[in-house]
Amino acid sequence: MPEYSVRVDSALHELRVEAHFTVPVRTIAARSRDAHRHISNVRDCATGKRIRTRGRRMLLPQNGLRCITYRVDLRQAAAADRRNNTLSPANVVVSPSVWMWRPAIGQGSHIHVQFILEGETLVSVPWQPVPGVDNAYRLTASPENAQGVAVFGRFTYVESDIPGARLRIALLQPRSEIDDAAIAAIASWVSDAASNVTLAYGRFPNPSLQVVVLPVGGHSWSDSPVPFGRVIRDGGESVELFVDERRAIDEYYDDWTATHEFSHLMLPYIRSSNRWISEGFAQYYQNVLLARSGAYSELQAWQKLYEGFERGRKSRPDLSPNRAAARGTRDATMKVYWTGAAIALIADVELRRRSNGNESLDDVLSRLQECCLPSARTWSGQELFAKLDTLIEVPLFMPLYRRHANKTGFPDLRGLIGRLGLAVDDDIVALQRNAELARIRHAITGQKPNSWVLLKPLLDTGQPRGQARHNHVPTQSRDRCSTDQ
Ligand SMILES: [Zn+2]
Repeated sequence: MPEYSVRVDSALHELRVEAHFTVPVRTIAARSRDAHRHISNVRDCATGKRIRTRGRRMLLPQNGLRCITYRVDLRQAAAADRRNNTLSPANVVVSPSVWMWRPAIGQGSHIHVQFILEGETLVSVPWQPVPGVDNAYRLTASPENAQGVAVFGRFTYVESDIPGARLRIALLQPRSEIDDAAIAAIASWVSDAASNVTLAYGRFPNPSLQVVVLPVGGHSWSDSPVPFGRVIRDGGESVELFVDERRAIDEYYDDWTATHEFSHLMLPYIRSSNRWISEGFAQYYQNVLLARSGAYSELQAWQKLYEGFERGRKSRPDLSPNRAAARGTRDATMKVYWTGAAIALIADVELRRRSNGNESLDDVLSRLQECCLPSARTWSGQELFAKLDTLIEVPLFMPLYRRHANKTGFPDLRGLIGRLGLAVDDDIVALQRNAELARIRHAITGQKPNSWVLLKPLLDTGQPRGQARHNHVPTQSRDRCSTDQ
């Protein structure tokens, strides 16, 4: 197992890295093409000999080596990352892709990384903490992304337990002052937004998630309280939330971005050519979960879903979902997001209808989490749908894939919308109480009290009350998504 130590000085000038390998390694590389700009003093620590780099690779001796040291100009690397533009110099965001030079990691193996921090310096990384050892992490195989986020310096670090998970929240310091009460309120909001996802199947899908909150107040693009969010899956899963820290906390609660991002974690990383599935499911759940939490009324949720389906239907009807998701396709964002949401709705209603309400998309995704999440690799859409079909008795997902993935136009929802009891007049939705599938409609978007999450595992396993296994009581307090969805 490779052992790394990473020394960080309190002025955040540089990283000093030393790595030991149990067997000689012949290939060491960084993820980012820019990594070579920031590295210096690369040496074989056994012989003291200099090692050169070319592009993203180190030029190692033919027999390999068992130990290297190198330095990374942290200031320079931070200056090249635009995420630092709105931050106080007391903390810096630098992707591991520009400083973590390492051998490939096989499935099932890992690299042990120990940070050595001076003074009040903290670190936040997507990797899994080593239990009982301060500032030590396990880096495992994962999908790759050069945007992965590491933070060094002085910022607020909060651990928040929600059912099924510990959130490791880094709230970064903006250039302007922000008071402790505001920081605490933002941390609670993060925790509440993540808790919305537990309203799907009683627990959060990733037991130990890095969340990084980047204040961007006053920046030209921050015209909403949460102007941008994304999930990054590199070395583990991270959720980045860009917030306008000048806004009142109530406005955060009216914003769907965080719930959307956290919803993404109910699926593994889907390759971008099938991203209508990942975006669509997040889009569907964002609205459903906000209704279950009480942030939206049922009517509001269905109005938003209806309007979204309409935007999707009108967006590039000449394209199939797979074609719309292909790199370089223009003006197809609504198509990508809402086709997948339509298919999630179709699947959810069908699962509920044919089981007489005993099975839902929530249950299938719960089984997916049990078997396969968080996942260390990238999945294709077909792989995911085939897997989901193994988790139910009668296939549903692959037939939907075959019917829609490569077909132009938009899934025809008119019949379904009528049977769910959504009466639409001039694009305004009304809910009909006596519709054929009104019960299913209510089961999807009806509000769930907080106690539901605590009871859910008991209901599933038939355990007596008071023996919930997965749950902790809250103690406190590159999927990209930013358009009008
Ligand atoms: Zn998204």
